[in-house]
Amino acid sequence: MEIKNLLNILENKGFKTYFTETTDEACRLLAGLIGKDDTVGAGGSATLDETGVGKFLKERGNKVYIRKLMPDVNPDEVMKNAVFADWFLTSTNALTENGEFVNTDGNCNRIASQLYGGKNTVFVLGVNKIVKDVPAALERIRTVAAKKNCLRFGYTSNPCVTGGDCRDCPRETNICHATSIISLPPRSKNVYVIIVDKELGY
Ligand code: SF4
Repeated sequence: MEIKNLLNILENKGFKTYFTETTDEACRLLAGLIGKDDTVGAGGSATLDETGVGKFLKERGNKVYIRKLMPDVNPDEVMKNAVFADWFLTSTNALTENGEFVNTDGNCNRIASQLYGGKNTVFVLGVNKIVKDVPAALERIRTVAAKKNCLRFGYTSNPCVTGGDCRDCPRETNICHATSIISLPPRSKNVYVIIVDKELGY
C-alpha cells in the first residue's frame, strides 16, 4: 500500500499524520510539537530509543517519565506518571492498512497510556510495522514483536521462541496479558502519528 493512502485513511479518522525520511527528522518534529514546559511519558520502546527523543527532551528541560532515563526512581511511579503526562510517546506493535493500531502488553501501562490519561499520544513507527489487517497484526506480534521481546528478557523457553503453542506459555514469563485495537483516536485525546521511512524497532 502507498504510504500516502494510509496517511489519508488515518487523517479521515481524525489522526494527525506526518511522514519523515529519517529518525532525526522525527525527533525535530516531536521537539516542535511538544512545549518546553510540557511533561512527557513513554513506555519501553526500541523505536523511540532509536530516535533518541527522550534523552533530547530531558536535556532540553522537559520533565520526562521514561524508566530507562530514571534508573533511581521506582518503576511503578514512573509508569503511573507517564500515563498522565501531557504527551505519551509510543511506538505500536502493528498498524494495519485500515488504520488500526494493534498492541499487546504484559504490564499494560503502555496500552493504558495510549488509551487514556494525558491530552496527547504520539505513535512513532517505521514502515516495517505496517501490516494488512488485524490477523496479520496479531501474527506479527507473536512471530516478531513478542518473540524478540522474549529473547531480550531471557524468556527463551516461551513457545513463540521455541515454535510451540501460545496456550502453553507459562504465566510467569507470558508478556501478552492484554491486546488493544485503536480504530479511532480516543475521544479525550489528540493522537499524532509519525511514520518514518525506515525499519525501526520491533
Ligand atoms: S503468549 Fe507467550 S508464547 Fe505467545 S507470543 Fe506471548 S509471550 Fe510468546
